[in-house]
Amino acid sequence: MNIGLLKETGKERRVALLPEIVTTLVKMNVTVNVEHNAGSGSFVPDAGYVDAGAKILSKKEVIENSDFIIKLNGPTDEEIGLMKKDQCFLGVFNPLTDHAIVKKIMNAGITAFSMDVIPRTSRAQAMDILSSMATVNGYKAVLTAANTLPKFFPMFMTAAGTITPAKILILGAGVAGLQALATSRKLGGVVEVFDVRAAVKEEVVGLGGKFVDVEGARDDKAAGGYAVEQTEEFKLRQAQAVHDHAIKSDVIICTAQIPGKKAPVLIKKETVEAMKPGSVIIDIASSTGGNCELTKDGETIVAHEVTIIGNSFFAIDMPFDASKMFGKNVLNFLKLMITKDGFKINWEDDIVKGTCVTHNNEIINERVKALIQN
Ligand code: NAD
Repeated sequence: MNIGLLKETGKERRVALLPEIVTTLVKMNVTVNVEHNAGSGSFVPDAGYVDAGAKILSKKEVIENSDFIIKLNGPTDEEIGLMKKDQCFLGVFNPLTDHAIVKKIMNAGITAFSMDVIPRTSRAQAMDILSSMATVNGYKAVLTAANTLPKFFPMFMTAAGTITPAKILILGAGVAGLQALATSRKLGGVVEVFDVRAAVKEEVVGLGGKFVDVEGARDDKAAGGYAVEQTEEFKLRQAQAVHDHAIKSDVIICTAQIPGKKAPVLIKKETVEAMKPGSVIIDIASSTGGNCELTKDGETIVAHEVTIIGNSFFAIDMPFDASKMFGKNVLNFLKLMITKDGFKINWEDDIVKGTCVTHNNEIINERVKALIQN
């Protein structure tokens, strides 16, 4: 089997596979072709891949000589043009929202896997790139907040007086929110957390946070552990509760999301106006619209003396460990298809089938199919 690793484009600094993963693949009798400079954004030179047993080639050569092309993001038009029918591609190309790329890949006859639609079952946990990247996002968001806040996070008792600890409010206690809670606590902040899923209350308390209950949340067990859209009545009650806690906070970390939908708006303009000057809002949900009404995705703005940072891609700013986690997830996924007799797509495996978006000029993933057909 031949695997090809492509270099990312634009601002992306991560790489899908670090040399340590290449070493493991080579031991499994896989030939790995790496595009020149693929690891440069993550501080890995070509020589690191050569030492791991890979060949360094041009983009065109990598695609021509590999059965399975791997990238962290989606393929560019040039890369789709270079790929042949039935060639396999693995990356993250947001098929639930970016339908244009799905159609291009499908029309080219590529068998494409998008790691962001992997089923979120217990068996798939070791392959779950959403959890890995959310971990990095939650951690980096808090460090960014601490760097931006004109105050300390921890309490200090000094000869120059007592410094009170920073108050951090976290909206959404999924993977990113819980990591933000743990990191805030390590820095000595006092943390309050909102979520619509009552199931997370225990985890929040276990990590040293205070869970703020808002009565009447819709918590749908059928949503597979995810949040669902809330009633208008609940939204009003929650907005008031968020407002009351936000105006006493120094930092708000926004992570609330509903899969496949726009992020819920939980902080209104009026709440920002009432917040303490110098406060910081980090909106990790910005790429899906943001939890704060004033968030601008990919931008840092100051409104009413509150700094609002809209960034869903903090993982790009920590490329080495983000790449390390991503690559390990990919390796665990590939192991489902690398057999003693070579590479085989096992269509009976729900993780393999669920992650496959297109094959043989058709859409395979049921969620993507339903969204594109409607
Ligand atoms: P996510 O990014 O979709 O959402 C983040 C959080 O926002 C969730 O906790 C959600 O309940 C919350 N939220 C949504 N709307 C809200 C609102 N109006 N107000 C307050 N909070 C709101 O979630 P995620 O971090 O990707 O994961 C969510 C859950 O999925 C996990 O806690 C877990 O149960 C499950 N999960 C399973 C696996 C697996 O088994 N492979 C891996 C990761 C996560």
